[in-house]
Amino acid sequence: MHTLHSISAFRAARRLLTGPVGLVPTMGYLHEGHLSLVRRAKAENDHVAVWIFVNPTQFGPHEDFTRYPRDEARDAALLAAEGVDLLFMPPVEAIYPEGFGTEVVVHGVTEGLEGAIRPGHFTGVATVVTKFFNIVQPDRAYFGQKDGQQTVMIRKLVLDLNLPVQVVVCPTVREPDGLAMSSRNVYLGGLERAAAPVLHRALQRAESLWRNGERDATVLREAMRAVLAQEPLAQPDYISVADPLTLAEIAGRAPARGALAYLAVRLGATRLIDNVVLE
Ligand code: AMP
Repeated sequence: MHTLHSISAFRAARRLLTGPVGLVPTMGYLHEGHLSLVRRAKAENDHVAVWIFVNPTQFGPHEDFTRYPRDEARDAALLAAEGVDLLFMPPVEAIYPEGFGTEVVVHGVTEGLEGAIRPGHFTGVATVVTKFFNIVQPDRAYFGQKDGQQTVMIRKLVLDLNLPVQVVVCPTVREPDGLAMSSRNVYLGGLERAAAPVLHRALQRAESLWRNGERDATVLREAMRAVLAQEPLAQPDYISVADPLTLAEIAGRAPARGALAYLAVRLGATRLIDNVVLE
């Protein structure tokens, strides 16, 4: 595995790869969720490039950019063991040099859910993902369903701007108790960690109602609210049943194409998000 820190060095190494390249963009502090994306990329492409970059522009001023967990040596060892070809870990100045002044804004699908609570977050993501695609020029790029709204936005970005990359969305990898793996799970204290599987339990409740034919979005939302209410530490930011394409909140009956059940819940100072596709 070659580890590169500058754009010019990365481009030079990229030019030597022949055959399809799969890209896995991450913010590092890797877990099995990230590695599942790497394995899928490895299975579907001749080469795999992984990007580790804690992107400052997708964090709000009061968010956790400076304390976001990092462990570059461990990440590099995990990726080398997976047979990754190129690991790109640029410094912030390489991606946002002095005078940087362009933003990529995706409208519509970024306005609700996380977008409503984290203003500017998705513009930061869309801008840096566009830069990833331009620098890496991957054939395919791999993203996790864990960040469901992000996947919908990236599909729209690729479609709207005719970006020559195939977006592949991979299933959410969970801990044995159902908690979706996340680099931010290390923030959870003991009691919060014990409470955290309530998100998955609430989503499972919606899933089981859905399987039994329930299509009324209000009923599904209320069922998730009731499960979350059983856990006193859980403070929901939102409980959503949204259209899977537009992410607009569904008022009555879910459309035939299905729905996305989506939760953001605060446990103490930590915010967790999770979702399931209802189809
Ligand atoms: P992050 O490092 O949190 O920005 O995540 C990098 C990529 O890994 C994103 O596409 C995430 O959706 C994906 N990812 C994060 N957690 C999981 C998980 N538990 N299962 C599957 N994919 C994940």
